[in-house]
Amino acid sequence: MSDRTPAPKKLYIKTYGCQMNVYDSERMAEALGGKGYVETKSPEDADMILLNTCHIREKAAEKVYSELGRMKALKDEKPDLKFGVTGCVAQAEGEEIMRRQPMVDLVVGPQSYHRLPAMDEAVQAGKKALDTDFPDDDKFETLTKRSKAKRGPTAFLTVQEGCDKFCAFCVVPYTRGAEVSRPADRIIREANELVESGVREITLLGQNVNAYHGHDGGLAGLIWDLDKVDGLERIRFTTSHPNDMDDALIDAHGTCSKLMPYLHLPVQAGSDRILKAMNRKHTAESYIRLIERIRGARPDLLLSGDFIVGFPGETDQDFEDTMSLICEVHYGQAYSFKYSTRPGTPAAEKPQLPEDVMNERLQRLQSLLREQQVETQESMVGREVSVLFEKAGREAGQMIGKSEYLHAVFAEAPMDVIGQVRKVRITRSESNSLGGILTDAP
Ligand code: SAM
Ligand code: SF4
Repeated sequence: MSDRTPAPKKLYIKTYGCQMNVYDSERMAEALGGKGYVETKSPEDADMILLNTCHIREKAAEKVYSELGRMKALKDEKPDLKFGVTGCVAQAEGEEIMRRQPMVDLVVGPQSYHRLPAMDEAVQAGKKALDTDFPDDDKFETLTKRSKAKRGPTAFLTVQEGCDKFCAFCVVPYTRGAEVSRPADRIIREANELVESGVREITLLGQNVNAYHGHDGGLAGLIWDLDKVDGLERIRFTTSHPNDMDDALIDAHGTCSKLMPYLHLPVQAGSDRILKAMNRKHTAESYIRLIERIRGARPDLLLSGDFIVGFPGETDQDFEDTMSLICEVHYGQAYSFKYSTRPGTPAAEKPQLPEDVMNERLQRLQSLLREQQVETQESMVGREVSVLFEKAGREAGQMIGKSEYLHAVFAEAPMDVIGQVRKVRITRSESNSLGGILTDAP
């Protein structure tokens, strides 16, 4: 007798952009798992391809259309193959995607992923499915529980979505909608499920994670509840807004041993005039004082940031103010971008700076940030750090993991260190990682 169990359908998800999209892709795969899909790493094998898109970079939508154009050959070879576009470009472009690329069967915005199984049914019946609503039902509640499959030692966990800050350059409040926080008990439940699957470090995600209000004690209250989860060894969170760093969260950096000494706290610019035009609602001075307070609580904290150069109206002096702020604060790590227009945002209406001016400023800013990163890495040489090992390194016998400061660290070690936090003495600094030797006995 033949085996009547249908072969599982294969799902290929290509993820662009931020960690929140990485998390969303996992949840989408889990939701479609209930419809008989298993993930594949190869688009050629897939029965359904989802592009989980990001709208933060320049010409994001055009890049998605080009990618779809390149993938059209797969559809020609396999006419039953289904295509979906998800994420922030799906939210921003909506129906236009199906108009410009008729092979797309499904378009779904970030707030409606829990509706994917129903949308898949429609698609399998030969219909088109579009959902870019901001629905009232809680998508996280409707999404299935986290899969019990064995996981790597680190995981993302979305606790908050959307943003009410409306920085003049940013598309997030339009694509991800208003700020919404998940209830703390559901997050704790999900954290326990992750730990049962082998996770040792959780990074709490939110567009504005420190505005989290699903716990009476805010993000700090949630962190203290997670501190009690047995088996969870490390907690991180990203991305934060300076105006939402409250006293309890600053204090947790000094007192909660599971909260890692790393903070990504974007300032964007060092000129008050530009910060005002950006609608950031903080000044350079208030940011610097805030960093002093956080470092007062946790002196070894490694600070990371985001910078935009060439915001409309930025003068040479404004740019020099950003350079001075960087010198004063000193960043261990940072992300920097040339300003680029996002249609629909207030800054898009303003006259843009010449490209060569922006390029020159970005180059200077990045070389300063790079110097600070190298200095920070070199200051680790000779120190002992704690490394959560994640996987095998490129060279035989080498394992790789992250220090408490989020540096990638490699060392010779046996395979079974994966999932363990071990002491490593740093012996060298390379371009984006540190090398060292294990110093603790197994
Ligand atoms: N919520 C975070 C915050 O308040 O800084 C970051 C959100 S955003 C997804 C990540 C970074 O992308 C921002 O910090 C900013 O530096 C950069 N970014 C956003 N819009 C941009 C634009 N129009 N041009 C250049 N960079 C941009
Ligand atoms: Fe965008 Fe962050 Fe500003 Fe919100 S706070 S609008 S996510 S840059």
